[in-house]
Amino acid sequence: MNLIESQWIPVRRESGETHIAPWQITDPSDPDLAIAAPRPDFNGALLQFLIGLLQTACPPKDGDQWADWLEEPPPPEILREKFRPFTHAFELDGDGPRFMQDLGTLDNKNDPKNISALLIDAPGEITINENRDHFVKRGHCNAICPACAATALYTLQTHTSGVGAGNRACIRGVGPLTTLITLDPDGSKLSESLWRNLWLNVIENPASAFLGEIKCLDSKSDVFPWLAPTRTSESTTGQITTPLDTHPLQMYWAMPRRIQVEWRNTVSGHCELCGNISDSLVTHYRAQNYGIQYTGAWEHPLTPHFVSTTSSPKPIRASVETLTYAHWAQHVLGNEKVRPAKNVREFHSKKLQEEQLRIRAFGYEMDKKLVAKARCWQETTYPLYTLEPAILEKFTARTETMIQTATDTASMVRSCIKEAWFKRPGDAKGDTAFLVEAFYSHTENHFFISLNRLKEQLKNGEDGTATLQSWHSLLIPAALDLFDYWTSRGDFATINPRRNTQAHRKLRNWLYSKKLKQTLAVSGDKEKAA
Ligand SMILES: [Zn+2]
Repeated sequence: MNLIESQWIPVRRESGETHIAPWQITDPSDPDLAIAAPRPDFNGALLQFLIGLLQTACPPKDGDQWADWLEEPPPPEILREKFRPFTHAFELDGDGPRFMQDLGTLDNKNDPKNISALLIDAPGEITINENRDHFVKRGHCNAICPACAATALYTLQTHTSGVGAGNRACIRGVGPLTTLITLDPDGSKLSESLWRNLWLNVIENPASAFLGEIKCLDSKSDVFPWLAPTRTSESTTGQITTPLDTHPLQMYWAMPRRIQVEWRNTVSGHCELCGNISDSLVTHYRAQNYGIQYTGAWEHPLTPHFVSTTSSPKPIRASVETLTYAHWAQHVLGNEKVRPAKNVREFHSKKLQEEQLRIRAFGYEMDKKLVAKARCWQETTYPLYTLEPAILEKFTARTETMIQTATDTASMVRSCIKEAWFKRPGDAKGDTAFLVEAFYSHTENHFFISLNRLKEQLKNGEDGTATLQSWHSLLIPAALDLFDYWTSRGDFATINPRRNTQAHRKLRNWLYSKKLKQTLAVSGDKEKAA
């Protein structure tokens, strides 16, 4: 199966669900609306696969061409022509190089693994041996179709955290967060389509210093590492792979794991992931450790990074915490510690005043203690604003104040609830981070409505303190409601009215404190927020 020519990508169209070849994403007769994979991580991976393919095969020459193609997608035949020179790198099976699979001979001493182990949330060997696979069971899919195998390979190579000795992590480290720009159909002049949601994330060619161009066919194995023997990373005889050793576009096609799917022993039946009938379901694969070890100053274009003057950029991880609005400003506007993803940074210089856009952020949340273990797939969307340069600085400052006061208030709510619950809250065991997350989810809608208002106020020449003041009057009921909710739960015998009253008073004192009011320019303290 060739992943450029075959119809294998599951999509939802107005006429229903179907499978298409990558070059058919702009079919004008029945435009694709979205990827429709059987798992959410597959949806995220296929979006990145298609963005990577467009970035590799047809980057825009300049901003005008980028804007033209956003409005008027190229016909499928043009895309097919653009993709054609790369076809040989996208063979999934057969005797030559195979997509995302090792070109060499893997050690036959290793037993073939069940195909389900390609899935990132599959239980590992230790979990199975210890009978701890309570939530995701072993062997829950024993045979999958070639399309699902291709997607599983790309998902694993793009997100693996390196389970087991010598198994290398993906180029973005453990549990990377991906931030993609999408059109919001409400309030946009352009209609939403899969093409537009991909093309919005393709970086313009003037950024070639960042992503480069493929100068000649010989360099293709620098982009697609499976076209050449793997740069292995054994501790004594192997090597590391830095941005200087290969092509920057390899960030979209990185291959940290040495894998070969067993294409010769297939069976017929229903794919246990997507349900489609196939006469070439795969059941096993072989793997060997010490694949490509990416290290150094890689900065993936679809991920925000922590930056510092003393070390390489560090990709931000996906977690329930990093997907709250408390981190929104970092991922979208950036600050001295965080650089938004390249696709998001470029967006701010584009003229998209008539479009309403959103960020779709997703990734695997990995276990904090067992970094190799995926806890769950996290995904959310939040707004993206087109801001004129004249108001950008003030907008960023006001937004940071709102986020900081929300963070402080969330922390105070948690602390007061614990003081109401426990005689000695400092000794109380158990994770109460959910109280902070509950506060953010309770106030998220208000936060983004307030940002809309802030943008309008700044455009009208106001200083935005009115938004800060109304943010104060939103934080108060949100904090008190949450306190009342959680302190009135449970067994009445365990509720201590005295502790409750004291903690409630402490929370009220904080909410009406001079410090908070000054920060949010409430009652005559406007000059403090300027
Ligand atoms: Zn399938």
